[in-house]
Amino acid sequence: MCPEGKTSLAAEIPCTKDDEKWKMTNEVLSNQVKGQLMDLGFFTEDEIIENFVERTRFAYPILDIYFQENLTVIFSFLSRIKNLELIGRTGTFQYLNMDMVLLHGLNCARKIAGLTDKSARELGHDDQWVG
Ligand SMILES: Cc1cc2nc3c(=O)[nH]c(=O)nc-3n(C[C@H](O)[C@H](O)[C@H](O)COP(=O)(O)OP(=O)(O)OC[C@H]3O[C@@H](n4cnc5c(N)ncnc54)[C@H](O)[C@@H]3O)c2cc1C
Repeated sequence: MCPEGKTSLAAEIPCTKDDEKWKMTNEVLSNQVKGQLMDLGFFTEDEIIENFVERTRFAYPILDIYFQENLTVIFSFLSRIKNLELIGRTGTFQYLNMDMVLLHGLNCARKIAGLTDKSARELGHDDQWVG
């Protein structure tokens, strides 16, 4: 993803479509972010090889007050499919970070290999938002 000896850095700016941040030009926005990160001592101007701005309109799911009820119906229906494993952020509808998602993947492989009978959703994070 980046040349040897270098690294990449992503700055995430939560905002809504059409708000002040969203409407800034890429140049203004990246200059602002770069300036703030340089003030904090992350890097100096001459260390930057390249930068770009990516706008993602629907980055996060929006939960309504019925989501848990609705999930119960969906999970109960899907549990009838015996060779289906639900894993990951979307598969389990949990607000997971990468570490838990990787654990889901590893656990799924273990289950397929017959080393565990626990599903990803039984790993202990069913009722909490991680991250
Ligand atoms: C804006 C944002 C910032 C984040 N920041 C962090 C962070 O700083 N640290 C951290 O640890 N985690 C972070 N996360 C969380 C992390 O990205 C997710 O937990 C992780 O990517 C979830 O992995 P996943 O495999 O469950 O799902 P995904 O990575 O979403 O993978 C699902 C894949 O399935 C594909 N797909 C969907 N529908 C279909 C279909 N019908 N057919 C075929 N393919 C399909 C999608 O294209 C996608 O490639 C962030 C997430 C977001 C959205």
